[in-house]
Amino acid sequence: MGPDGGGPAPGPARSRAVELRGLLSRAAHAYYVLDAPEMEDPVYDRLYRELLELEQAHPELIAPDSPTQRVGGTPAEGFTSVEHRIGLLSLDNAFNLAELEAWYGRLLKVLDREPAEDAPPPALPMVGELKIDGNALALSYERGLLVRAATRGDGERGEEITANVRTIQSVPLRLQLAHPPEWVEVRGEALIPDATFAAINAERQSRGEALFANPRNACAGTLRQLDPRVVAARRLDFFAYTLHLPDGWQPGHGAGAAGKAQPADPARPTSQWDSLSWLQAAGFKVNPNAALLPDLAAVEAFFTHWDTGRRALPYATDGVVVKLNDLRLQDAAGFTQKAPRWAIALKYPAEEAPSKLLRLACQVGRTGVVTPVAEFEPVPLAGTSVSRATLHNADRLAELDLHAGDTIVVRKAGEIIPEVVRVLSELRPAGARRLELPHVCPECGSELVREEGEAATRCVNSSCPAILRGALRHWVSKGALDVDGLGAKLIEQLVDRGLVASIADLYRLDAALLASLERMGARSAEKLVAALVASKVQPWHRQLYGLGIHHVGEVNAKALARAFPSAAELATAAEGTPELITAVYGIGGEIAQSLQQWFATPANQQLLGQLERLGFCLTAGPGELAAAGGGPGNGPGSAEAAPLAGQTFVLTGTLPSLSRSQAQALIEAAGGKVTGSVSKKTSYVVAGEEAGSKLTKAESLGVAVLDEAGLRALLEPGP
Ligand code: NAD
Repeated sequence: MGPDGGGPAPGPARSRAVELRGLLSRAAHAYYVLDAPEMEDPVYDRLYRELLELEQAHPELIAPDSPTQRVGGTPAEGFTSVEHRIGLLSLDNAFNLAELEAWYGRLLKVLDREPAEDAPPPALPMVGELKIDGNALALSYERGLLVRAATRGDGERGEEITANVRTIQSVPLRLQLAHPPEWVEVRGEALIPDATFAAINAERQSRGEALFANPRNACAGTLRQLDPRVVAARRLDFFAYTLHLPDGWQPGHGAGAAGKAQPADPARPTSQWDSLSWLQAAGFKVNPNAALLPDLAAVEAFFTHWDTGRRALPYATDGVVVKLNDLRLQDAAGFTQKAPRWAIALKYPAEEAPSKLLRLACQVGRTGVVTPVAEFEPVPLAGTSVSRATLHNADRLAELDLHAGDTIVVRKAGEIIPEVVRVLSELRPAGARRLELPHVCPECGSELVREEGEAATRCVNSSCPAILRGALRHWVSKGALDVDGLGAKLIEQLVDRGLVASIADLYRLDAALLASLERMGARSAEKLVAALVASKVQPWHRQLYGLGIHHVGEVNAKALARAFPSAAELATAAEGTPELITAVYGIGGEIAQSLQQWFATPANQQLLGQLERLGFCLTAGPGELAAAGGGPGNGPGSAEAAPLAGQTFVLTGTLPSLSRSQAQALIEAAGGKVTGSVSKKTSYVVAGEEAGSKLTKAESLGVAVLDEAGLRALLEPGP
């Protein structure tokens, strides 16, 4: 979505600029005048940046009414509009540290302080302040008295809201100075703390009124209330950050009681840092989190700190503001049309952004559910680059009304998976095609099915390669059979080459064949075969979970395996009434129905038969039952009869062919117990390569140490 390069604007750039201008002007009106934004701020910022870049690349596209050509919005009707003694500007934005450095480079250039080649850039002290997400106010004091308060408006004229601002307790009505200057202009941010914002919205909701979108809009709406009592009730706060004094003013030369002994007023500031102190001395509230930063590295550390630190603040901030500290240097750097060159707003990483849809992809999961996925131009969100987001299902797709080439709003907050929030239909290309889920499976071509009352659309062809791949991935996953060395890429090769058509086929692979596959060597092939063999002794509940029966997750699989300690017993129960299954604590009708369907499917019964012939016993071992404290339909044998009953094991290091969980499963299946720390009561420590302190401890306590072969020998049935 960047600029189209230099030269005269090509048609697409021109029409894009027109589109963006229209969209942004409408959004700015809704935001600044109506206090009811139509768009998320980061989305506005990104589209604004796109327009700015287009205009920079093709200056002939700049229109006098472009939102890039003015500060804020026009003053709203219903208030007296007043001219500011000193204009209020906006701030240029940097959206990452590279842009901050670029700003600093430009600043050095303007100040003629560019470093000689290879020399590090000179360090200019700066002040870091929080960028409070409130509303700028212009306060005018004459001879120490507050005479006028106004909104920023378009920067030159704002709305006169003195009566409202007088209700803000942190705005001094009289400056605490012995000799106040003829006039003082103060700028700062009015804000509504988060808790107050929540209370205001709760009250509005109870009265059936429209809710404010965020604290900044609530604050703007409040400042424009016609009744100051309402403003007073909303408890606004104010932080001062800019001071303007008459030229040449020095303390002691004011209109105060001359000749009388008075406490000295603070000196005329020569830096931003001094201005903050001056404001504080004059009775203003100054945000306590401002910091004097000696160089750019300190600015970066300040930003990084507040990117997380802001979450603990009781009010909203959307970045930090960096200002050159020395006021003479500020003067030398000057202003652009809209903003000072000596300051920049460094914004926190956006959690929402617009992007252009490239493709609607469809993923077929292991249960056959087809999920539409939007693929779009990569955008940085919450610190990562995002280019795909789920659209959940056909209903969500229809609700979004997605068309080819649409501009979409994508959100990713912190750890949350990215999602498409909505479509900016104003930016839709003419004649764009509406996007829907396909009618046939993109993987196998069979007709897709959507059951009445279900949100999901499914492929019901059980030999669909996508379903098979998903089933295999699930079978070997950590919580199931935990087979090391069988990743998604390898599974894809095995399925695509027709080498594996079911879970059972995995156990028929030999090392020579595996070694011939891409990115496989003889050693990893052998290891994989060994891991597959070892996986046959995983406990019954893991095997049951691994089968991937709809609704049977790890917890349910454990409960079911305890109640039905073999596949045969579970199959028998599934043939009977659902109550046989729902009698198990925690198992409901949905699961019972899904089990009945699964066991009634001939292909699944065949799979169980094949697994048994391959050496799976599909039965709970005595250890499992002992650990579970038995249960209805307790299986044969008891913990006492098992070869390792009453023995405690500790595992350490890497064993040649067994993973930790496989070794544990073998021990538990034989009635033993596995614990995490070595004591005198430990029967054996099983140690592999790179065994750590547990081995040393075993040796010092005289506990028997085994290797994998030794463990296997213990597990062999006795003579
Ligand atoms: P801005 O909010 O990015 O930055 C300038 C403002 O920062 C100042 O006016 C001041 O109010 C504030 N500020 C806070 N702390 C400050 C400090 N310590 N020092 C100096 N200033 C400080 O710029 P803007 O011109 O007000 O407008 C752009 C903002 O408005 C963007 O965040 C944009 O997303 C939002 N906006 C949103 C929409 C929408 O539709 N959602 C429309 C228009 C504008």
